[in-house]
This record gives sequence, C-alpha cells and structure tokens, in this order.
Amino acid sequence: MRVDLHIHTRPKSPCSAIDPSALLEAAARAGLDGICLTEHQNRWSPEEVGELARGKGIRVFQGNEITTSQGDILVFGYDRDLKGVVPVQDLRKEVETAGGLMIAAHPFRGFLLFGITQLQLDVEQGCKRAVFQHVDGLEIHNCKVTDPENDMARRVAERLGLLGVAGSDAHRLDEVGRCVTVFERELRTERELVEDLRARRFTVEVRRS
Ligand SMILES: [Zn+2]
Ligand SMILES: [Zn+2]
Repeated sequence: MRVDLHIHTRPKSPCSAIDPSALLEAAARAGLDGICLTEHQNRWSPEEVGELARGKGIRVFQGNEITTSQGDILVFGYDRDLKGVVPVQDLRKEVETAGGLMIAAHPFRGFLLFGITQLQLDVEQGCKRAVFQHVDGLEIHNCKVTDPENDMARRVAERLGLLGVAGSDAHRLDEVGRCVTVFERELRTERELVEDLRARRFTVEVRRS
C-alpha cells in the first residue's frame, strides 16, 4: 500500500496551497493508495476526514506536525492537538503513553543553506542532534529539502537504528506523492499504520520529476 505520510492542506495549514477537494484526485493520479494529513498542529475531526474520503477509494489517515523545542515532529497515533512550541520531552511522554510514534520531520532542512560541506557536518555529528534521543524515526525523504540533506538523514537513521520514512511535505498538488512510504499490507486504521511503521514493514520510494 502506497502512502504519502506528510501532506498539508488549506485552510488548516495556511502555508499550503492545497485545496482538500482536489487532493484525493491528485493522490490517485500519483498512484497512491492512501495519504496522511499532517497539518501544523491542527487536526481534522473524524467527521471531516470521513467526508473527505467518502467514495474516493483512497484511504485517509491523520497525523499531526508538532512544533517542538527540537524542531518539527510528525506524530502518528496521538490525537491531542497541542498549541505553541511544545517541549520535546513532554511530547515524548504523552505520545508514549498514547502508544503513538514520533518522527523528526526534515531533520536537516536548511543545513545546506550554510552548506553541509562548509560546516563539515559528518554523519557522526549529525547523529548528535538532541532531537534523535526523543523520536522513533526520521524522514529520510522529504521533497522540501535538498538531496544531500535527505542523504544525511538516511545515513543518520541507519547509524542510529531509527526508522527512516518518506513523506512529501506537500504544500502544492503537484508535490503529492513525490515521497512515498510503501507498506507491505493494506492498512485500515492509524493504529495499524503505527504498528507497521514500528515493525518496519515498509520501504520508501521517491518520484523524480
Ligand atoms: Zn515542517
Ligand atoms: Zn510539514
């Protein structure tokens, strides 16, 4: 099952240009079987999700992108909506209690502005980022960051033994489905999504365009 785990729509994420009414057609065109809504600290109600998905043949999951003291973190299987900048340790406790999962979003975004090479940031140093002590995994493919930044994330995930997932971070329709997490089985609920991420029953895929 092909799922884009990181998608923003408007108006729930004001920074996004994606009109939800066009989203599922775009997802189908991109060959996806499912999407996961990850607005910025703004959850859809179950009724709204049901309405969006009705009759479209695409599974709609929901996570959340939380602004924390250690950067943006995607949470799955945790349905409280938090506001403001959340201390990462507090989020960890809550998500663990809920049985959810935390994924550091675009963990090296912007690093190339200064230049990874200029900074001489190597994998060893990348692994030392404090955020990695508090998450289950990180995004190793995110279409909003550069290839070297994704590459660093992938190597850090491997070195630390953390989950490495893919999500487009789509803010425009043409970005939907660029980075895909491919699950071995058909998932029906967020709980199953969390289970299969945790059990590493997935691979990642990137669409070059
Ligand atoms: Zn983000
Ligand atoms: Zn995002």
